[in-house]
Amino acid sequence: MTARLPKRCEIVIIGAGIQGLLLAFNLAERGKRDILVLDAGYWQGGASGRNGTLVRSGFSSPEWIGLFHHSVEQWKALSSRLRRNVMFTRRGYSVIAESDKSRAMLEVAHENQKALGIKTEMLSSLRLKEILPAIEHQRVSGAIHLSDGGTAPHHAVMKAALDVTRAQGIQVHYQTAVTGIETTDGRVSAVQVGDARVEADLTVIAAGGQSTDLANMAGVDLEAMPFRIEAAATEPLRPLIYPAVALVDRMTYLHQTARGEIVGGSELPGESAKRNLKSTAYVLPRYAKHLLEMFPQLRNIRVLRQWSGYLHPAPDGGPLLGPHPDIRDLWINAGWTYGIAGGPGAADLMSKAIATGEIDSRMAAFSVDRFRRGKPCLEASAVIDNASSAS
Ligand SMILES: Cc1cc2nc3c(=O)[nH]c(=O)nc-3n(C[C@H](O)[C@H](O)[C@H](O)COP(=O)(O)OP(=O)(O)OC[C@H]3O[C@@H](n4cnc5c(N)ncnc54)[C@H](O)[C@@H]3O)c2cc1C
Repeated sequence: MTARLPKRCEIVIIGAGIQGLLLAFNLAERGKRDILVLDAGYWQGGASGRNGTLVRSGFSSPEWIGLFHHSVEQWKALSSRLRRNVMFTRRGYSVIAESDKSRAMLEVAHENQKALGIKTEMLSSLRLKEILPAIEHQRVSGAIHLSDGGTAPHHAVMKAALDVTRAQGIQVHYQTAVTGIETTDGRVSAVQVGDARVEADLTVIAAGGQSTDLANMAGVDLEAMPFRIEAAATEPLRPLIYPAVALVDRMTYLHQTARGEIVGGSELPGESAKRNLKSTAYVLPRYAKHLLEMFPQLRNIRVLRQWSGYLHPAPDGGPLLGPHPDIRDLWINAGWTYGIAGGPGAADLMSKAIATGEIDSRMAAFSVDRFRRGKPCLEASAVIDNASSAS
């Protein structure tokens, strides 16, 4: 693989998941074409081929709303920009609370969302029955419906992004692991791929769950760790659940695909620290319990597939976006828990920052050094258990 690598290029992107590919596409649209994208694995082998495909437009904190609202606006335009159908379906996204505490949190989220121009509705019990007739209504204490949210099957966007970046003249190499990152005079100067070496003006780490390992190769750290979660798909059913759904008290998400499968998962404490991609008999019954308590009609259906993948959350669950504070010419696009939802927005804002030097405030909020500055972006409505624990 290394024989085809150039000796130097302007920008090296490490990782060809949704973040790396869409960043390369957006940079090319802004006139930067001397880009090399390197990936250790196979196409869709990372989290970008292992996710639930839910695209959420609204959260509770202004910072998260700003970034993800922008991203959903980018999702809406992506098929026409890529000239391929990325199959983003605005089926809506319902966030469900069961406890009083979560209902109060959703009420605050709803006000913040309205103030920032999100299409959001606090559902009455009548509206909940219209939107989610199959849910166990008496368990629900409050619900928000985000009509711009929905789903985007990852194979469609990943295929479109790969084809288009290659057509733009960008080299994308899979099965080509970066094995070292060279630094010279306080800057990142080259990456190593086995025996080969590629010099670059700028290096971007977009390596998903491995991003901290990559930063360590450059002698710096990232405040984020790999975080393993599992998901499952059932046999196809007649249409039962139309919107994407997050059950915040259960750290569970799901949706029904166009083919009829229920796809989703539950995050489970204790499983996240494992460094392997085996799915377990521990997770599935707990996810099933959540599903059956909230959607009793799903009893007796069979699970056809179960898989796992890595998130890479920072202590506040938000992404790490922008230049690394401790070394020059190293940029980070990592730390993702909602990297499908956030991918197009992050790629747009980061490509602008790299091409023009202007860092948009929606991206600056998620700067790599925000923890040491005491400015975490706390988010209470994410279905990941470390998302509101940072202080
Ligand atoms: C089960 C599951 C469900 C999820 N559900 C959702 C959801 O519904 N909605 C949502 O928004 N997000 C969801 N996510 C999260 C989302 O999938 C990720 O945030 C997103 O895919 C991250 O994209 P990425 O490009 O940063 O990482 P990845 O897709 O993981 O890509 C990183 C790439 O870096 C490569 N790499 C690693 N090390 C090296 C190296 N040394 N050299 C070169 N390349 C390297 C890897 O091979 C990989 O292909 C889910 C994730 C999982 C696992």
